Amino acid sequence: MAKDPVCGMGVKEGQICSTYEDKKYCFCSKTCKESFDKDPAKYVKSEGKKKSGCC
Ligand SMILES: [Zn+2]
Repeated sequence: MAKDPVCGMGVKEGQICSTYEDKKYCFCSKTCKESFDKDPAKYVKSEGKKKSGCC
């Protein structure tokens, strides 16, 4: 069971999915997918992997 990163609902994989940074995310509806595609970074938080501000 995958988790819809937009609304947090549990969703079945393989229906409405999107790939972002080599990871697959699945959604409960097209609406959620559209929101995600608009601004994936908003919904995907790489926890504990903060890059330092320096180059
Ligand atoms: Zn959703």
